[in-house]
Amino acid sequence: MRNQQKLSVAIVGAGIGGLAVAAALRKHFIEPVIYEQAEAFARVGAGIQQSPNAVKVHRWLGIEERTRAVAFTPATSLNRDALSGKVTNDHPLGREVEARYGAPYLTMHRGDLHDALASIVPNESIRLGKKLTQIRERGARVELTFADGSEAEAEAVIGADGVHSLIRDHVTGPEQPRFTGRLAYRTTFPAALLRGVDIGSSRTKWWGKDRHIVIYFVTADRDEVYFTTSQPEKADWMTKESWSMKGDLGELRDAFAMFHSAVQRVLAAAPEVHKWGIYERDPLPVWSKGKVVLLGDACHPMTPYMASGAAMALEDAAVLARAIDESDTLDGAFRLYEQTRKPRASMVQTGSSANNWMRNETNPDWLYGYDASRVPLRSSLAAEASTYYEA
Ligand SMILES: Cc1cc2nc3c(=O)[nH]c(=O)nc-3n(C[C@H](O)[C@H](O)[C@H](O)COP(=O)(O)OP(=O)(O)OC[C@H]3O[C@@H](n4cnc5c(N)ncnc54)[C@H](O)[C@@H]3O)c2cc1C
Repeated sequence: MRNQQKLSVAIVGAGIGGLAVAAALRKHFIEPVIYEQAEAFARVGAGIQQSPNAVKVHRWLGIEERTRAVAFTPATSLNRDALSGKVTNDHPLGREVEARYGAPYLTMHRGDLHDALASIVPNESIRLGKKLTQIRERGARVELTFADGSEAEAEAVIGADGVHSLIRDHVTGPEQPRFTGRLAYRTTFPAALLRGVDIGSSRTKWWGKDRHIVIYFVTADRDEVYFTTSQPEKADWMTKESWSMKGDLGELRDAFAMFHSAVQRVLAAAPEVHKWGIYERDPLPVWSKGKVVLLGDACHPMTPYMASGAAMALEDAAVLARAIDESDTLDGAFRLYEQTRKPRASMVQTGSSANNWMRNETNPDWLYGYDASRVPLRSSLAAEASTYYEA
């Protein structure tokens, strides 16, 4: 955009998407300010899978060397029957995936990914302890009010405020997420606690009839393990979507008591666990309103079953920054961004709900082959064909 270096941009939320879009805008000489509700960044006990399409954004932002140094590179995506242990699909990752898509498949600690993104955004542009309570568009400016009574304004606002986004309510009205009746337990813990139990060098998903568990290392040194589950909620309450809520290890172990002994040994080693209610939402009708635009979970929250929510937030960040750079107006930029991203993000959102990704032989070219730093931006409604694959 003309004079874009003078465009004042506020980002609400310093999670994966907020930090990534701040770094992406800085590549285009825009210096945004990020407002984050947390008083400090915490190392949430969670693993995260970064498929090649996500790692291509790491590369474009300049953090690939750092993430590759700390992350684990699983040899395969191993899918097994929960009871018999029979392999239903063993999809090669490691060198094969890198040779095919030009980037590796990594599994890592969410905190390490967050740290890497934070390292490329200056501290002084992140305002911590700023919980947004109100947003108003007034003429050419957007006004933000925070819980501590302070205010800020900007010419453009990016809502990267996650799954419970207040900015989404501003853009599309209050939403009614549907509780799926399921919850995810998850934890990271030192591999030493496994006391010799071998989890192998794959990212392994054990598929039961109505529940599953995914297990993998999150560090290059294989000294930290992660698992995440999905299972029916046994009571009739609705578990919240929360990164901090603790779960009951006894309930978790009971729920997986019929699973293969290899799984039970991992559950027996875990010292604590968190739980997260799994909710569903439909794709949003629009992604922006006036000078306010959404990104990441605020825009297309999804169930975790394709392990792609953060990857989508990273891709959004790259495309939104490029669209702002290439457009004459903010309105045009937001349209270009939505046209480019919506078909793909909606496809992943829908595919995640189905929860069958990789269970049997699967061709992931459309997902892993995408490069958000180079995908053509769509200026027409021909966006349906917006997946970009180059082997
Ligand atoms: C169990 C589980 C496993 C997952 N595994 C994977 C995986 O393997 N791979 C993958 O790609 N994705 C995975 N995901 C999804 C991924 O975690 C999310 O899609 C990703 O974090 C979205 O990034 P975001 O920036 O949109 O939101 P977040 O990272 O959640 O960041 C939102 C930020 O906004 C802040 N905020 C919220 N409200 C306000 C406010 N009012 N004012 C100021 N700040 C505010 C929050 O404090 C937070 O820092 C998983 C999710 C779950 C639940």
